[in-house]
Amino acid sequence: MAKETTLEISLSALKHNYHTLRSKLSPKTHFLAVVKAFGYGSEAVSVAKALETFGVDYFAVAYINEGVTLRKAGIKTPILVLHPQPLNFKTAIEYKLEPSVYSHRVLHEFISVAETLGVQEYPVHVKFNTGLNRLGFNKENVQTIANLLLGSDAVRAVSIFSHLAASDDLNENAFTENQIDEFRSISKQFEQHYGHCPTRHLCNTSGVINYPEAEFEMVRCGIGLYGYDNKESAPSELRPVMALKTVISQIHPIKKNDSVGYNRAYVATEPKKIATLPLGHADGIGRQYGNGVGSVKINGQIASIVGNVCMDMIMIDVTNISCKEGDEVVIFDSSLTANTLAQKAGTISYELLTAMSQRIKRIIIP
Ligand SMILES: *Cc1c(COP(=O)(O)O)cnc(C)c1O
Repeated sequence: MAKETTLEISLSALKHNYHTLRSKLSPKTHFLAVVKAFGYGSEAVSVAKALETFGVDYFAVAYINEGVTLRKAGIKTPILVLHPQPLNFKTAIEYKLEPSVYSHRVLHEFISVAETLGVQEYPVHVKFNTGLNRLGFNKENVQTIANLLLGSDAVRAVSIFSHLAASDDLNENAFTENQIDEFRSISKQFEQHYGHCPTRHLCNTSGVINYPEAEFEMVRCGIGLYGYDNKESAPSELRPVMALKTVISQIHPIKKNDSVGYNRAYVATEPKKIATLPLGHADGIGRQYGNGVGSVKINGQIASIVGNVCMDMIMIDVTNISCKEGDEVVIFDSSLTANTLAQKAGTISYELLTAMSQRIKRIIIP
């Protein structure tokens, strides 16, 4: 029973999700676990340590400082940094973090830092743009990049990769197939110019689920490990890893025409019972969940959020719910999922999960 706002992280659900995703792949395919943004809002170190024992081959984070945290906690598995900034390249090398090189500027700067530090054959991952138009070299650049890489002993391409724009959206199937073809053709060209083709990887979680033909030598799974598969239909085979729970701080009986919260956004049309909870937009429950959009669960019953979400509190309507101060409240868990709550506010599980503020207590459940 939660006595304060708590984010429970289930390592058994994580294990189940890892094995479920793994079972869709050929045994020789490598598995990269994405643990950026504090492990999608969970707790990156505990999650990475558990995943390391399950046997993942690689980790990915977005930024170099996220990788440093993992290394300081004793993570030994290779770590790919998806979006490194040249300012931190020296730190990356000190902590054995492997950069994605995605532009000429970034590649030149990395080679220069690697040469200055006197490292040999430092592993880098070459990112190609196949349609997302976010990060990556274009296919016209293949020969120049291969030559640049061959021209320096300080670096070595250990993988080439790209990212799918709409792997979760089957209406965009033709676009995705085209990305897969483009990536294939880029890898052939890369092989010609570089002498061999390193590990190739393209699929995120939805790619693994929807495009098994594009598995290549490695896949990169994030959201699936945390229990969400982005599928609208069919009950998920995955289990949500995180559960957000809190407690009722106070209950106010209010009269008709009384208002609740800032700017009096809620006005009672009849007598009501209102409960106040100790979490708000500073904890990751944004203002978009206010005014009836979001709801929570108390003693198995659903109560909607009334009025504006405050920084440290939300108020909920418990008029028809038998409850008292100190009772546990579920914001999301494995049955009332983060995805369901996120969808009510027109967003996705990724945003709600990664918004979970660092001030929320984490409990790791083995
Ligand atoms: C975040 C990210 C992933 C993981 O995607 P999921 O949909 O969470 O599985 C994979 N690859 C790249 C490049 C990413 O940025």
